[in-house]
Amino acid sequence: MTDLVAGTRRWPYGIALLAVALVPALLTDNPYYLRLGIQYGAIYAIVLAGLNVLIGGTGQVSLGHVGIFATAAYAGAYVGAAGLPWILTAVAAVTAALAVGLVIGFPALRLRGAYLALTTLAFGLLAIQLISAIPRVLAGAGATATVVDVPRPVLGPIVLTGNRGYYVFCILLAAPMVALARNVFWSQSGRQLQAVRDHEGAASTLGISIVPAKLGAFLFSAALAGLAGALYASFDPLLSPDNFKAEDSITFVIALLVGGLAAPVAGPVLGAAGSIVLVYLGQTYFRSYQALLTALVFLAILAFAPRGLGGLLRRTPLRRLLPGVGETLVQSAAKARATDAPRSPIEASDTGADATAVVAVGLSARENGDTTTVAHPAGTVLVERAPLLEVQDLVKSYGGVRAIDGVDFLVKSGDIHVLMGPNGSGKSTCLDVICGLAAADSGRVFLCGNDLTSMPAHARARAGIARTFQEIRLFPGMTVLENAMLGNPSRYRAWRQLLRTRGVAAEEREHAAEALALLEAWGLGEFASRAASDLSYGQRKMLELARAASRRPRVLLVDEPSAGLNPRWVASMVEALQALRAAGHTLLVVEHHQDVIADLADTVTVLDSGVVIAEGPPAAVQRDPRVVDVYLGPGAARLP
Ligand code: ADP
Ligand code: MG
Repeated sequence: MTDLVAGTRRWPYGIALLAVALVPALLTDNPYYLRLGIQYGAIYAIVLAGLNVLIGGTGQVSLGHVGIFATAAYAGAYVGAAGLPWILTAVAAVTAALAVGLVIGFPALRLRGAYLALTTLAFGLLAIQLISAIPRVLAGAGATATVVDVPRPVLGPIVLTGNRGYYVFCILLAAPMVALARNVFWSQSGRQLQAVRDHEGAASTLGISIVPAKLGAFLFSAALAGLAGALYASFDPLLSPDNFKAEDSITFVIALLVGGLAAPVAGPVLGAAGSIVLVYLGQTYFRSYQALLTALVFLAILAFAPRGLGGLLRRTPLRRLLPGVGETLVQSAAKARATDAPRSPIEASDTGADATAVVAVGLSARENGDTTTVAHPAGTVLVERAPLLEVQDLVKSYGGVRAIDGVDFLVKSGDIHVLMGPNGSGKSTCLDVICGLAAADSGRVFLCGNDLTSMPAHARARAGIARTFQEIRLFPGMTVLENAMLGNPSRYRAWRQLLRTRGVAAEEREHAAEALALLEAWGLGEFASRAASDLSYGQRKMLELARAASRRPRVLLVDEPSAGLNPRWVASMVEALQALRAAGHTLLVVEHHQDVIADLADTVTVLDSGVVIAEGPPAAVQRDPRVVDVYLGPGAARLP
């Protein structure tokens, strides 16, 4: 029971919700009520569950889903009318929906915002036109027979001819679909979709591949619209193209907004329930003003509850009973930690045949320049510290400006290597080109001897490069803990996460516990369940570093960690960076502050106008006359 109240065990709520949804079948045999329940309850819930993953998850607004729904209904109808079993009707509908989803999903990869919405709207119109044409073509020119008669599903000995049985059937299919869509929001895959929605560039530096994420969400929503189409096809005995209107796509989106965009269960369920009520009121009391009523109710809901009915519920005491994803993750993290200690969240990955790996197997090591002295039972050995990251002759121009112009340097394993230089000298551009967010005009990037130059950003991230940004790039739509968890990829494939297998749930608890431990170590623990956008500037910088570090990258690129921070935060930041080095991380840090550099740097590379002008240990570099010239003007004695 405490689990139930604490919100970590949620299936009893699901069962209760399902039971409530089934009650109408016990109470009424009225065909009108059941029709409302089937069409606007169950069928809408399925469509909205898919749309919620697409629009709420990835932020891609589709106004063409009625096209997918209608195509699927027709594909299912033709198969059903041929006398084949219902399951084949559903398979045909979902297959057609996936094919169509792929067609509109592709433009969605390039377009966004209003362009995407209008493209999908045009597609929806086109699909409906094509559907009305097919039966005419089939029936011969001049014929207007556009009606397909589809039989009801047969489940063994039961034929679902009555509306009551069909209602139960639809609800029993809708429930697992809503659950699947909910699982998306409760998984690493779902967080990745939201990361893509909030910032594609930052998402790709976390190893997230944008194309599969966007296309996957599109196909998921198409598949659900397809299943809904199959249910619709065998529900309406006389399926006709007139049943589908382009504006139905808009109604889907409105219903979702009314339910609560990105609310995993409330979005589709309350959206569908709200649609039933609106359609009932409209058809019963306001026949001539149905559209007006819908518009007014929609405006009222968004004015008083911008996050829909789901958001409204979360402002009531129900919130304590049913905490959201963020709060539940924190609770389950705390619980997981009570049972078994998480491994250190910032321990670096094994970087191969280098000194840190030797240390990791339990030998003691002492570093000295390019070699590490390792005390081994068989005697002292010297291990060469391998170059971990190497950039060769990197060139990158923007317009006429050569942001970097033939930059070479080597970052040694276990070092904090600082890139220093005046504003506009090309430091951030170096990081962009190393992590793959910007393509170099020429030159090469090697990590552990592997050439990464032709790889996209997400592949470089997977190869072991992580970064933070000069202008912080958190995902504001997620909580602090969810942001921190994004660094830690799941071992499980997306379809397993969709099913939320035992292993997936256990991994979620484990990753939440690790991320929470890191947040606590860096003074962010108490904010774990708050929105990332609630944090102060300094806290955001720390969170971004935590997110990158929890990838356990081979090399961590940090852009201006102390810029804009007050002295207290600068001290915490320096401590965090030192802790990362102590845990075996290799860092490439862009930094201005000389005292921070003196505290942190093993090696400093100085850039000026895109060219390396000095390199070496910090003390020597600060005395270098060329560096002094750049910072203090020609002839100045030394840096402040
Ligand atoms: P730093 O980080 O050292 O301050 P940057 O690498 O940000 O310098 O910038 C180096 C030069 O490249 C500047 O002249 C800047 O205006 C230009 N630059 C950097 N990024 C872009 C971009 N995305 N588009 C156009 N110009 C850019
Ligand atoms: Mg910069």
